[in-house]
Amino acid sequence: MAEKRDYYDVLGVSKSATEDEIKKAYRKLAMKYHPDVNHDPGAEDKFKEINEAYEVLSDQEKRARYDQFGHAGVDGSFGQGGFQGGFSDFGDLNDIFGSFFGGSGFGFGGSSRRSSNQPRQGQDRYMQMRISFMDAIFGKTETISLEVDEQCPHCHGSGAETPGDVQTCPTCHGSGYVMTQQRSMFGVIQQQSVCPDCHGTGKKVSRACHQCHGKGYEHKRVKLDIKIPAGISTGQQIRIAGKGERGSNGGPNGDLYIEIIVQAHSTFKREGNDIYIQIPISALDATIGTSVQVPTVYGDVELKIPEGTQPNTKFRLKGKGVKTSRATGDEFVEVQIEIPRKLTRKERELYEQLRHGQKESPFERFKRSFK
Ligand SMILES: [Zn+2]
Ligand SMILES: [Zn+2]
Repeated sequence: MAEKRDYYDVLGVSKSATEDEIKKAYRKLAMKYHPDVNHDPGAEDKFKEINEAYEVLSDQEKRARYDQFGHAGVDGSFGQGGFQGGFSDFGDLNDIFGSFFGGSGFGFGGSSRRSSNQPRQGQDRYMQMRISFMDAIFGKTETISLEVDEQCPHCHGSGAETPGDVQTCPTCHGSGYVMTQQRSMFGVIQQQSVCPDCHGTGKKVSRACHQCHGKGYEHKRVKLDIKIPAGISTGQQIRIAGKGERGSNGGPNGDLYIEIIVQAHSTFKREGNDIYIQIPISALDATIGTSVQVPTVYGDVELKIPEGTQPNTKFRLKGKGVKTSRATGDEFVEVQIEIPRKLTRKERELYEQLRHGQKESPFERFKRSFK
């Protein structure tokens, strides 16, 4: 056995941590390393280590023994008749994971005392889908191709040709576990392990289903029509029920979640349900006013630029933003005023005339009030 790490280090708490701190640290780590969530190699061992540390540190008596004698004080053989394999308390974990996995509970490897032959829902699957700016606004149906395990329609997941071909495992009598005993200098050590005959299902099939050859499911490539609702935005998820990982012991499949990523547009910017656009206007048009055809996602819309429009003025086109089932946004048009860089001789003459007729320039006004 590898050298055991200090339980306080395992949970990342100080030796003086309160019960509450220990519980909090444990929950956080258990969430991170739970084998249903974390598929990294080593996550399962880490998870076991965390549970072991918590089992000791959450128990006042065990914690005191551990503080005094270290691992030797709590390794199960200390002062007690036997060692019970597995974890004593899954209550906390089921609190945490119940909400994630539909309260279906879970069996963990072979070391849980909870029977592993209960139907269990499969894990959820996640994928991302990139869609264009316009598709996000108007919605669309996208067809994807996906591999899934579907329950065998002939045996409904049992793997048996007929229901009469399913029998209780004679080795473990249906529990899915066998107990082994070992004598040691500390007494009898009793350990529970997964039944080698039925691999924990508690059942034996005498005649395998001809369609799935006893697997209970069929691996298929399927085409799915994904309906992307109008007005969807980046980060939103679409749930497709039953297209996640396969369940076990006749449990249903998990779900598939598709996270949407909306690509940026070259002209339009979106914030929530509002759309922003910048348009260039000549200084002349801003001065005497004009009317322009402004692009919106629904096509061009006429916008009146009034006389004396100032740089960066924002105009609102009501209802020209994103329409969702709940709300409708607006489009905001920001004008950027362009000063001509070069003038023709004729233009120059006209500007000179205008300047002549001007009562007082902004700069003269500034100087006057400056004195
Ligand atoms: Zn079948
Ligand atoms: Zn068995």
